[in-house]
Amino acid sequence: MTLLPWQNTIWSRLQQMRDSGRLPHALLFSGPQGVGKELFAQLFAKSLLCQEPDSSGLPCGHCQPCHLLASGVHPDFTNIAPDVESKSGEILVDTIRGLAFSTTLTSTAGSHRIVLLRPAERMSNSAANAFLKTLEEPPLGTLMILISDRPSRLLPTIRSRCQLIGFATPPAEQALPWLEAQVNHGDPAMLLALAGGTPLRALELDDSALLEQRDSLLTAFIALAEGRTDPVKVAADWAKQDLNMLFEWWSGWLIDLLQLQAVEQPVTLFNKDRRETFKQLAERLDSGELQRNLQRLYRARQDVEANLNSQLLLESLTIDWMGRAANR
Ligand SMILES: [Zn+2]
Repeated sequence: MTLLPWQNTIWSRLQQMRDSGRLPHALLFSGPQGVGKELFAQLFAKSLLCQEPDSSGLPCGHCQPCHLLASGVHPDFTNIAPDVESKSGEILVDTIRGLAFSTTLTSTAGSHRIVLLRPAERMSNSAANAFLKTLEEPPLGTLMILISDRPSRLLPTIRSRCQLIGFATPPAEQALPWLEAQVNHGDPAMLLALAGGTPLRALELDDSALLEQRDSLLTAFIALAEGRTDPVKVAADWAKQDLNMLFEWWSGWLIDLLQLQAVEQPVTLFNKDRRETFKQLAERLDSGELQRNLQRLYRARQDVEANLNSQLLLESLTIDWMGRAANR
């Protein structure tokens, strides 16, 4: 486990806080999905628990705490994620109560106990309230690291009790060389664009089945815009897909169309490999309609997360998209 090249600055900053004894009891790592927040948090936890970190704070990988962490059984490290039994994919209150109990014990070996909580915004209401109590009376020697792609969804009272550490999307000149050394299938620059510049997300997309899936969804999206297919059929097919991914791609298509209408040569296109197709489509569409379409898509995404009927929602979106695009 190594430090990702674009994380050096944050790493030094946290190591300085550690060296000067200024680490708070709770950190909130926030930033877009796919920039490596969790990898960083794991490495930092290792660094704090390792007996012989090197001069930059990187863990040795050989001492007993390093071995215990690698095998997932270190007694001073707790990883909290959504309960597998929770249908809503939430972190449940019992998990947080268990944490409050375990953090009252003193650390077994060194001076730190570390709790990693991810994705922090997935705590249920009662879990968040229980967690707030833990933050109000922080157990001595415990560092809680919350990780969130959407920190605005956390209770403001939780946010204000954590020190915010922001992870930004790295510049392409740092992300691309790293990605080039990792990919097997796709073109690194195309993948990075498709992932909105987030390198770990780009690496996830380096999967030939996934890239084929994107092609077929995009083909249907364009066929709808040209009035060549049945929106109800498309919705029925799309309802079976990974909806998070579908919404992410779909919003990327609409944003690209808006960008192509606004400027001649946009630099941040998601779908760089389809520039010409999108350009032709963009010329036929009204930008006000496109913006309304994008807003509807964002609202539908929230409704799907609230477990409303996804096929019906998708139908209304595909019919709306075809109505706005195809009749021009
Ligand atoms: Zn070590």
